[in-house]
Amino acid sequence: MADLRRALELVRTVADFPEPGVLFRDLNPLFADVGALRTVVDAMAAALPADVDVVAPVEARGFLLGAPLALALGCGMVPVRKAGKLPAVAARVDYQLEYGTASLELPAEVLREGQRVAVVDDVLATGGTVAAVCELVERAGAEVVAVSVVLELTALGGRGQLPGREVQALQAL
Ligand code: IMP
Repeated sequence: MADLRRALELVRTVADFPEPGVLFRDLNPLFADVGALRTVVDAMAAALPADVDVVAPVEARGFLLGAPLALALGCGMVPVRKAGKLPAVAARVDYQLEYGTASLELPAEVLREGQRVAVVDDVLATGGTVAAVCELVERAGAEVVAVSVVLELTALGGRGQLPGREVQALQAL
């Protein structure tokens, strides 16, 4: 617990990024510290149900957590990508971001019907990104069993976009 607190203290707050007035939570110092990264990944893994089949991290910072988390859980990984990057696409969702609009795509024929999926990202802000990933997963006939993030920015109301979902955040700010 003390280790997790120390790891989360490495998150840096950067004012006025990407726009004036926004406080950006920068996890790079945490990612750069192997002990902190391991502590955070282990804490995310410990909170997830044991029978997760696949983690679905979101490009790009979600990938930094998704791959080690998949190894810690002993499961596979289906990366959800920004539009235009995948050679074969199962589905696409357009959604609102905190700072504009975006589109995400699910790779074709890797997520199987009925699989139990944990959606993974670094930060939950307005919830638009994670809600889009949940929609992609469910369109493929798989089940979102949990959403796992390092930080939840509560003032932005992300949980409100995710009614009925199991949302796990290591820290709420
Ligand atoms: P949302 O869709 O508004 O919940 O925004 C979440 C997405 O934007 C995630 O993929 C995050 O990586 C990114 N994001 C939003 N705010 C921050 C922040 O303060 N720090 C790091 N990433 C952020």
